Amino acid sequence: MTDMSRYHRQTLFAPIGKEGQAKLAHKHVLIVGCGALGSSAAEMLARAGIGELTLLDRDYVELTNLQRQHLFTEADVENKTPKAVAAANKLATINSEITINHVVIDATADNMVNYVKQVDLIIDATDNFDTRFIINDLAHKYQVPWIFGACVGSSGMSFSIMPGQTPCLDCLLKVTPVFGATCDAVGVIGPAVQMVVTHQVTEAIKILIEANQKLRTQLVLFDLWHNHYQQIDVSRSKQENCKSCGVTPTYPSLTYQNSTKTEVLCGRETVQIRGRKYPLESLESKLAQFGEVQANPFLVSVEIDSKRLVFFHDGRAFVHGTNSIEDAKKIYYQVVG
Ligand SMILES: [Zn+2]
Repeated sequence: MTDMSRYHRQTLFAPIGKEGQAKLAHKHVLIVGCGALGSSAAEMLARAGIGELTLLDRDYVELTNLQRQHLFTEADVENKTPKAVAAANKLATINSEITINHVVIDATADNMVNYVKQVDLIIDATDNFDTRFIINDLAHKYQVPWIFGACVGSSGMSFSIMPGQTPCLDCLLKVTPVFGATCDAVGVIGPAVQMVVTHQVTEAIKILIEANQKLRTQLVLFDLWHNHYQQIDVSRSKQENCKSCGVTPTYPSLTYQNSTKTEVLCGRETVQIRGRKYPLESLESKLAQFGEVQANPFLVSVEIDSKRLVFFHDGRAFVHGTNSIEDAKKIYYQVVG
């Protein structure tokens, strides 16, 4: 039996109350991406008592993450723990009374659909628009609200997308310049991340307790360094002929076949290759001939000629130390044969 006193200050807050708290306990939220935005959103939602959280992320913890990604530690860097796993482990020590699932995959239309169907809300904590457009289409197809969030430098923005009511991401992009649409190389400060998460999680709680009349219907934009705050009314940007949220949707991002896509990861000097699934145990012995191998239950990595290759269960590999797809593939095939 849950000891409700842990939520005392939240139930004392009249708009939530005991009734709202009871609703939260029966809700399930999918958090796509478990970096700066995702780990903080997950922490706030876990502390707030959301009954079930599913954390989805493709990456593992690196030293450059610790400046702004709250749930991670130096031990996670040392062990190359996948972010979704590290976050879930930490959250379990914060709130053991909720269910927390971790999924180490690169989000695609195919592998996300089953998660989307099970949840009440999706939090966008990704760093790329390919994934956001997949979320946008899945959310509209299965009528699940989702909350867009992005940040760069000292700026951030957020908008809550309610299928059938608000404009969708595609509609929004046609009327408002949205940053993050290109590869950003200007860095980011921790407070900007937290400000976006604050907006996302507040709206999430409103949606989950069905306080619909209190939802923020405007796009929020800010720049903490330059002291700029803005809310933009985008209600008229909803397009009747939109392929994602219009009257006859075709959900273009769900039909796009990208299962063999090789891509350069934004600002990371890393190429992601989707290849064959190799059993990690057999890779571990095979890679030993090339250099020092590091392994955990989720990945195997090896360093070769100042490049690091990391192989995951789902057939993906990262080649760190290059932005060249050609170079990355060359070393990848040299290793896997
Ligand atoms: Zn739309």
